[in-house]
Amino acid sequence: MTTPFEHITSTANDTVKLLKSLNAKKARAETGLFLAEGARLVEEAMVHGWSPAYVLAGSDAASRPRTADLLARLKKAGARVLTASEKVLVSVSRKDNPQTLIAAFRQKLSRLADLDAAGPRRWVALYEVRDPGNLGTIVRTADASGVDGVILVGQCCDPFSVEAVRATMGSLFAMKLATADFATFDAWRRKAGARVVAASMHGKQRHDRADYGDRSIVLMGNEQAGLPADVEATCDELVRIPMNGAADSLNLAAAAAVMIYEVWRGRGYNGSDQ
Ligand code: SAM
Repeated sequence: MTTPFEHITSTANDTVKLLKSLNAKKARAETGLFLAEGARLVEEAMVHGWSPAYVLAGSDAASRPRTADLLARLKKAGARVLTASEKVLVSVSRKDNPQTLIAAFRQKLSRLADLDAAGPRRWVALYEVRDPGNLGTIVRTADASGVDGVILVGQCCDPFSVEAVRATMGSLFAMKLATADFATFDAWRRKAGARVVAASMHGKQRHDRADYGDRSIVLMGNEQAGLPADVEATCDELVRIPMNGAADSLNLAAAAAVMIYEVWRGRGYNGSDQ
């Protein structure tokens, strides 16, 4: 079946080359674009008002009513919509079984100053997180538990890498994400009157006995090095999640989930559907 869109079969096509390049951080930084793969992720991005630049769709998928409707909305939102052969989709996604829809969206980050700091708030700050899977999983947990925003502090991995976007399972598009160096973050949180409780192997207090306050930031450390001593010295409280057995520490995303849910539990799971 034919579709109203230009069809591409060559991996040497300029748009295909551009989309392929978005697998690398340098090209993402230069273009301000990133890839979202699969109809579910693309739909989620549209629901939350993200701006699409390019879309590649498998020809079979493009002629199905649901996908055709999504493609029409993407085009209306300003995207260049193309259909492509399986070979082209494989070359962009680098997977043998690629999604039949791959889109490039414009990156969007919040400034710390734009995060609403009035009233009770819950934020999560990640200090130099390096693993995109951890970053994406934490954004997903933060979204599921109604966190107000995730702040990436210092040199973190790219939240717009394919791996990170995939791990958020669409939550990237719903969650406010800000980046800052530590000094800027520290100044902002003091001005906002936010209490920083850090999850740390040096914590003496148990995480479920901490005072998180009404405007709280849970700060998590780097996968290898944890938090530097000078950063820990600025925190209001350091807490430790109890452990047993031979493990030295919990995985960062697992520890973040325990912390995030403890803060929410302390607020009576306000806003939940349970
Ligand atoms: N070797 C690192 C250290 O000594 O901090 C381990 C880092 S751990 C894999 C990554 C982060 O997860 C830590 O910086 C901390 O924020 C959090 N974390 C992991 N297990 C924890 C625990 N039992 N109590 C508190 N925080 C924990």
